[in-house]
Amino acid sequence: MTWFNIQNIRKFVMLWLIICFTGSINLFAQARPDTNELHHFRLLAFGTYIEVMISGGSKKRAHQARNLVSQKFKAMHHQWHSTHDSAVSRLNRLLPSNTWVALPPVVRELLIRSKEISILSQHKFNPAIGKLVNIWGFNNALKPRSKPPLASTIDTHTRQQARMSDVQIQGGRIRSTNPAVQLDFGAIAKGYAIDQVVRLLQKQGFKNLIINAGGDLKAIGRRPGRAWRIAVRDPSKQSRVIAGIKIINEEAVFTSGDYERYFIHKGTRYHHIIDPATGYPAQHTRSVTIIHKNATLADAAATALFIAGPKNWADTAKKMGIRYVMLIDNKGIIHLSRAMQNRIQLLGKKRQRTQVRELNSQHSR
Ligand code: ADP
Ligand code: MG
Repeated sequence: MTWFNIQNIRKFVMLWLIICFTGSINLFAQARPDTNELHHFRLLAFGTYIEVMISGGSKKRAHQARNLVSQKFKAMHHQWHSTHDSAVSRLNRLLPSNTWVALPPVVRELLIRSKEISILSQHKFNPAIGKLVNIWGFNNALKPRSKPPLASTIDTHTRQQARMSDVQIQGGRIRSTNPAVQLDFGAIAKGYAIDQVVRLLQKQGFKNLIINAGGDLKAIGRRPGRAWRIAVRDPSKQSRVIAGIKIINEEAVFTSGDYERYFIHKGTRYHHIIDPATGYPAQHTRSVTIIHKNATLADAAATALFIAGPKNWADTAKKMGIRYVMLIDNKGIIHLSRAMQNRIQLLGKKRQRTQVRELNSQHSR
């Protein structure tokens, strides 16, 4: 989960400008005249601004949607955050006991989905490494560190190999066979929450909208007269846009980047995406952007492919059923899946530094 900090504000302002005024930077073809009104509102949840735009319908309906979205996001954030007195933090206190304990219903679905996806990613996306995340200090409640933890501390935690496969669920009960497991849903909760809220709004009859949580977003339908368009930031200079993506029907676009939360020590950037195999932040990647219909999977996959890195991302993408990938490595080279190359509009010189891979998987969607 992203912190509410100056970078988020910048990220939010930029996306807001881009989504509203894509015409002015002329990313795509000229729009037809608008036939519907565009309602927009924003709220604070998941440590970031959540921006909602609804195309069509009355002001009153948009207001109803606003209340619903606000209430849902705040409740979900409160239940899942591992540092509040939340259902997840209470569960984390019980898990080391190695006995069956009650699984709070508000956590059940998120946990089951996280376990499935974690196994698909071969534990690169691993929400069982809450302890490692904590010792690195990449946690809302903790002050950011200025130097890495002791290598021996990292080693001790990494060797305990906390994994979601250590977590067993039976009806309304849960236990962990590994006392090191501590849950941290920071890499998936936002995606899961967006899926839930979009589904709820769809049930209420909303057909055209976009929910943008600090740059990670899901859109359905169209904005008045044309498709929703998304801008992707340059990880090396976040005020710069490097690419545009046009949304088709129902899609989520999620990015994991090394610029969200980090500190620099002796010239090395230590950021918040931890490789569970080494216990250290993955150093070979700057950012990963995923497009997928399902925001939950897109969120978790962006984290998993970040860890897989420039050599292994294609294999992990195939295993996770991901078709649209853009990975920017630490040399600035842009790695694209063929399907993403056909979707994304790269801007400026960035086009010259790309490597395209074919992802021939039957499972890719
Ligand atoms: P963002 O902050 O942009 O949403 P991510 O979706 O990649 O970025 O989530 C990063 C967060 O996920 C970290 O702050 C931490 O809480 C948690 N995390 C870090 N490494 C992993 C990992 N390998 N697997 C699962 N969760 C992780
Ligand atoms: Mg993620």
